[in-house]
Amino acid sequence: MHCYDCSQEGHNEATGIGCCTRCGLFTCADHSLIMRSPVQRPIGVIPMTSALPARRLVCGACRTAEAA
Ligand SMILES: [Zn+2]
Ligand SMILES: [Zn+2]
Repeated sequence: MHCYDCSQEGHNEATGIGCCTRCGLFTCADHSLIMRSPVQRPIGVIPMTSALPARRLVCGACRTAEAA
């Protein structure tokens, strides 16, 4: 799978590393951001945040939208 953003820019040789968790498009390392996100686990009725963050991949466009 090739990176969607690279193909939009006219060069599609970059291999995608994964798909954005928001838009689902495949993007390469240059066009992806690995975000750490806390995991909520309910312990009984109390929501607990895991000591270790999970990770998720977002593409540049979705990251820009999230930060806007
Ligand atoms: Zn790319
Ligand atoms: Zn995206």
